[in-house]
Amino acid sequence: MKKSVLIIYTGGTIGMINDPETGALCPFNFEQIAQEVPEIKEFGFTIDSYTLPKIIDSSDVKPCLWEELCHIILKHYDDYCGFVVLHGTDTMAYSASALSFMLSNLTKPIVFTGSQLPIGTIRTDGKENLIAALEIAAAYIEDKAIVPEVCILFGDKLFRGNRTTKINAERFDAFQSTNYPPLAEIGIHIHYNYEAIDYSPRIAPISAFTQMDTHIAILKVFPGIRPEVMKAVINIPGLKGLILETYGAGNAPSNDQFLCLIREAIEKGIIIYNVTQCQGGAVEMGRYETSCELLNIGVTSGYDITTEAAVCKMMYLLGQGKDANEIKKRLNSALKGEITPNRVGF
Ligand code: ASP
Repeated sequence: MKKSVLIIYTGGTIGMINDPETGALCPFNFEQIAQEVPEIKEFGFTIDSYTLPKIIDSSDVKPCLWEELCHIILKHYDDYCGFVVLHGTDTMAYSASALSFMLSNLTKPIVFTGSQLPIGTIRTDGKENLIAALEIAAAYIEDKAIVPEVCILFGDKLFRGNRTTKINAERFDAFQSTNYPPLAEIGIHIHYNYEAIDYSPRIAPISAFTQMDTHIAILKVFPGIRPEVMKAVINIPGLKGLILETYGAGNAPSNDQFLCLIREAIEKGIIIYNVTQCQGGAVEMGRYETSCELLNIGVTSGYDITTEAAVCKMMYLLGQGKDANEIKKRLNSALKGEITPNRVGF
């Protein structure tokens, strides 16, 4: 296959300029990115670009953007050997996680990238990010993509998309994947971490599932959380899934009132997914007394999943309309390498 990469521009800082009137950052047309990085023309492969009809700051991302991206990728899948998605950093980890679940049997790289400084500014990190992303999207060995995954390229690292979190609003190394090693490190050469890349067999042609179900909520526990806060969340009409962000290894207040409300939610049919507030490590319900009861009540362990991946995994599984037991089983297993279920000996 002739090497070619499609850049899909969704918006974000990488393509922003200062509005001459207000001075605020606002999005501009992708054409200017090609002008700003003439180096990309020097790659020995074809680079096409597609700008979404409505470019957005990624704070405005909704699941319909993920659906749109899936459709574009599927439509052009045979025409390109890889895809680079230019996306704002704020919700990039959500979008990359979502696509990792929505796309099945992916054999080509989908590399999300963006930047902290607009590409037109002198110290921009956007140029290097874009150039490295393009190189990785086109990296093949004997007709096989080196990274057939949805990933995030930022600074000097390539991460698995559904393992990544934005951890800094200013630094060029804005993303982190604490619980999974980088898929590649970018220096003078690009060093691929072949052991970490998912080469499991893809048995069917690529397909996309796009019916994400957004009837979910996140509840972060904190000392002093009031019962009325919990009641308000669990009584949200139509709520089907709750990401419970707990302390440390999955611990939560052990008082009766808290536990009764969690039990009540489960009895109402709400699936509760226990995710740690910590940057690294995993939920291990049963390790401390304060998590034993959550396990007994029927809370599902998120192990070492990120909140971003948990949100997208829940929407994806609820969207498939499976019964609660099947959903819990899948929440407990790695669908796309997003958790390490054996990490803590379960
Ligand atoms: N607010 C911007 C966005 O996420 C920030 C960025 O692009 O990095 O779209």
